[in-house]
Amino acid sequence: MSLDLRNVPDELVSLSRFLGDPSHDAAILAEGNASFLEDDETFWVKASGFSMRDIEAQGFVRVRFSEIRQALALDSFNDDLVRAVLKASRADDTPLMPSVETFMHAYLLGLPGVSIVGHTHPTPLLSLLCLEEAEAISQQRLFPDEIVCCGPAAAFVPYVDPGFALASAVRDSVERYVEAHGAVPKTIWMQNHGLIALGKSAREIESATLMSVKAARVWLGALSSGKSIKTLTPEQVARIHTRPDEHYRQKLLWELRR
Ligand SMILES: [Zn+2]
Repeated sequence: MSLDLRNVPDELVSLSRFLGDPSHDAAILAEGNASFLEDDETFWVKASGFSMRDIEAQGFVRVRFSEIRQALALDSFNDDLVRAVLKASRADDTPLMPSVETFMHAYLLGLPGVSIVGHTHPTPLLSLLCLEEAEAISQQRLFPDEIVCCGPAAAFVPYVDPGFALASAVRDSVERYVEAHGAVPKTIWMQNHGLIALGKSAREIESATLMSVKAARVWLGALSSGKSIKTLTPEQVARIHTRPDEHYRQKLLWELRR
């Protein structure tokens, strides 16, 4: 089937341009990628080599889950196999190659309640992700709106090569998070790499990304003061996370941008 660009979801194109907007300092050049669940069998993902800043419908490819999932079940892989699988997974006749992070997107879009995913490399967050203490920081919260937009904690992924290996590491991290919190994470921090935001709408991804960047700036400011930092207690975090009026606020925050 040849690719019909009218089928590329507007929500995915506008989210990608939002994430690549230089004012957010979240992705430059061809950094980052985004994906959108089409149906049980296929999803859209950014093609390799495109910049999110000015991407249009022709920068995305539709991919079948089946080939990607079969590959993810394998124990061993190499660069040639990864390339062959990405090539074979394309649902339309296109010369474009799906992003090397397609494996990670395929896993995340299979989680309950997840239909859109945005991955970025925000500079302030990367500053935290390059600290030895990054994992401990990812589990703490400093202010209420961070919990509203980003959840009670982030899932944390130790550094691995981007691509196939990263998809397995992300899966391990999400499984640990679900066991601890009883729900899918809103954000995933990848050590020495960047951020993933996942959810049901582009608004959720935008809010979680912007608030993660803000929280990272707050951390950096607090750390640079040299004074001791007061993080919210687990009880305070749980209270905000489960309060009904916070859920109302959560909705409001997602709607506020437009
Ligand atoms: Zn990346």
